[in-house]
Amino acid sequence: MRNELLIWFAREGLLLTNILSSAEDPEQDEVKISVRAPLLALSRASHDFRECPDPVLFGYPDEALDMMNLDDMHEFVLTWFERAVVAGMARCFVCNQVLDMGEEKPWDAVFVQKDLYCWLLAHFDCKRYLARDLKGRHPFEVSAQAPEFFDMRI
Ligand SMILES: [Zn+2]
Repeated sequence: MRNELLIWFAREGLLLTNILSSAEDPEQDEVKISVRAPLLALSRASHDFRECPDPVLFGYPDEALDMMNLDDMHEFVLTWFERAVVAGMARCFVCNQVLDMGEEKPWDAVFVQKDLYCWLLAHFDCKRYLARDLKGRHPFEVSAQAPEFFDMRI
């Protein structure tokens, strides 16, 4: 992930930090700090987590991040998800059904802010069960792959 995007998430207060000190060995006072930016989930399967796509790498102007607020990022992520749904790659986080755009889009993108920061998709009717399916996820134990590249132009 580019530093610019990490800095943007830090500015929005959405960067998680994990501090690991080697307490067993007092001689070694090395502290390991890792940071985690918000993720996207194409489904609840562990191989379906993605790093957040970088708007600039998807065709936004270089200075776009300076002007974007969180709502703009939600919008951008939703567009990415819509491309993934059209490609048949996205599932409801709760019931695991493959999503489509339908006559009337039956699902919504949700931004989870409890324990980990993560965008995911769920049917309107499934949303109420989300808490159950999110339980026990630790942000630093979830491994995320690079996001698929979609043409984001409208
Ligand atoms: Zn569902």
